[in-house]
Amino acid sequence: MATIFSRIVKGEIPCYKIAENEQFFAFLDINPVAKGHTLVIPKREVDYIFALDDNELGDMMVFAKKVAKAIEKAVPCKRIGVAVIGLEVPHAHIHLIPISKEGDMDFKKEHLHLTEAEFLELQQLIVSQL
Ligand code: AMP
Repeated sequence: MATIFSRIVKGEIPCYKIAENEQFFAFLDINPVAKGHTLVIPKREVDYIFALDDNELGDMMVFAKKVAKAIEKAVPCKRIGVAVIGLEVPHAHIHLIPISKEGDMDFKKEHLHLTEAEFLELQQLIVSQL
């Protein structure tokens, strides 16, 4: 069965898309720990990030870097934190999170509840910096 992220890539489930190329796809995390929290995934369905082959992993990081640079310009922050957890969705993904202090990366704190309008505004701000 396709993962929820594969269904997002196919357009079967809506998302706030940030960027894509032939191999990778980026979209806003629906349950963000910070405004601008974005996920980068390979279109190929692979569960564990370190099961990707070397070139694919390298290319995914380069793609994530472009997205991170755009987030950095769009959202006030000191830098973009990078995290890989992957315990919830079995489809490799990199979390890109705008941070100003260590605690901003805390996945255990209460997540933000953004409105549709706030998601759309963030999407537009980030996309305009790509
Ligand atoms: P983890 O697998 O532990 O890295 O967590 C999966 C992440 O995917 C969480 O941050 C979720 O909020 C996010 N997520 C799950 N479903 C969706 C979705 N449909 N759209 C955007 N983000 C999602």
